[in-house]
Amino acid sequence: MASFDAEYTPLEEIPKIRTELRDTFASGLTLPPAFRIQQLHQLARMCQENKDAIVDALTLDLGKPKIEVFSGEIGPIVDRSLYAAERLREWTRPEKVEVGTAWQKEWDTRLYRLPKGVVLVIAPWNYPVVLSLQPVIGAIAAGCCLVLKLSEVAPHWASLLTRLLPQYLDTRAYRIVNGAVPEVTRALELQWDHIFYTGHSAVARIVSAAAAKHLTPLTLELGGKSPVIIDPASDLTLAARRILYGKFNGAGQTCICPDYVLIPTSAKAAFIAAYKEAYAEFFPNGCLDSDDYASIVNPTHHARLKGLLDRTKGRIVMGGRVGEDKRGRMVRMELTVVDGVEEEDALMEGEIFGPILPILEVRDIDQAIEFVRRRPHPLVLYAFTQDDDVRRKILLRTTSGNLVFNDTYMQLAVKELPFGGVGESGHGRQFSKWSFDLFSYERSYVDVPPHLESGLSHRYPPYDDMAMAIMSAATNMEIPSDEVSGGGVEDLL
Ligand code: NAD
Repeated sequence: MASFDAEYTPLEEIPKIRTELRDTFASGLTLPPAFRIQQLHQLARMCQENKDAIVDALTLDLGKPKIEVFSGEIGPIVDRSLYAAERLREWTRPEKVEVGTAWQKEWDTRLYRLPKGVVLVIAPWNYPVVLSLQPVIGAIAAGCCLVLKLSEVAPHWASLLTRLLPQYLDTRAYRIVNGAVPEVTRALELQWDHIFYTGHSAVARIVSAAAAKHLTPLTLELGGKSPVIIDPASDLTLAARRILYGKFNGAGQTCICPDYVLIPTSAKAAFIAAYKEAYAEFFPNGCLDSDDYASIVNPTHHARLKGLLDRTKGRIVMGGRVGEDKRGRMVRMELTVVDGVEEEDALMEGEIFGPILPILEVRDIDQAIEFVRRRPHPLVLYAFTQDDDVRRKILLRTTSGNLVFNDTYMQLAVKELPFGGVGESGHGRQFSKWSFDLFSYERSYVDVPPHLESGLSHRYPPYDDMAMAIMSAATNMEIPSDEVSGGGVEDLL
């Protein structure tokens, strides 16, 4: 088999691809809803008809269990492609906008949602299928042409998709670029109509700077440390099972992985005991060699994680062992719990992106909230509580892209809610209509009938007192008294 490097897109090809896509976009090929619907069906078909090949590729890239590939990679793309196809006519329908101002009543006022143009999607490796193809759904639905830059860190998936995509999608409109930093850098020198980047916040700064040069609109899907706050009065057994579920998926290499736990001292020992119990139940023979548990993506990332375990000043109370996979690569790491972790610990320096769970003790929920508040805004904040006051405090006093109570991961199952970060965890929203919206722009449309000219003639000089009265009316509008009933913070809940 040829090495993956041999398949990197030649740098000089990248501008040519963009020019071809621009020509396609100008031709109007991707505009008709029927074309978009057919391409969305094809995307779903591609995933369904090649399930086994996708599982094989992700086994080689990430040691991903088949069930995780079906439920977290292929399933969502099939489901969301069909969902978008079904609703596309409704999303693309022009909206007749009713105006409230009396003298505009006869104007034709509409809102069109039209494609932005030719867009660039830069994908990561950790959920290679869903994170490459979810933005593709949005771009197809919006009527855009697209270049998809796949991650070089998941080479088997990249090779497979590079072969499959042209068999299912129209290559006049949708193309893949393979490679690493030089290829992304070349692509970023060009002007695009939108850039969608998923990955690390350090690289996001490079992408943002490049986008700024062309004033290109940008979506950033980033990660960071997503905390878990545990109310000692909550069901600790349930919390442990659900946090472990969030931690073992993809061996913790997930942007929404619960990164660390903040728990009051009174509940800590019981929580750790419950976590160990859940672990023993899920992995009766341990996880190190289990086919139900993924590998770390490569020895470099594994060494980074092992380094964190070597440097932590906390105490390993569960797991901590490492090993090789069936191909002899040092990429296996046990689900691990580290107790007694302080804020300055190595485990708290950056996103862990692995199966290690640090436990930080706090005095109470208020101290946990203060801890979260003084760190960058997370992608997700998880909290386990049944107490409405605690829920309310967390909602109103913290900031995060998603807020999830009493579970982990399950926000992804809700198609009707958007997904995305805030601040350091990114900006922009995706899934369903939000994905369609971010690759579309809202074009306002006004047609002022010629026969209304006499009613508008006061705007032309020479001006008289009547013109002044009409044109300055808003400057004299009455401002209501500030005494409003209600309007307290309860209205936000
Ligand atoms: P990454 O930033 O290393 O790589 C992503 C893409 O950027 C790749 O295609 C890569 O080729 C490119 N790239 C890497 N370095 C570059 C550089 N210097 N210049 C230009 N392009 C470069 O990210 P990753 O390691 O693939 O993913 C891990 C990160 O992504 C984590 O922080 C994780 O939380 C985050 N993430 C976020 C989401 C989300 O939806 N919010 C999803 C998955 C991952």
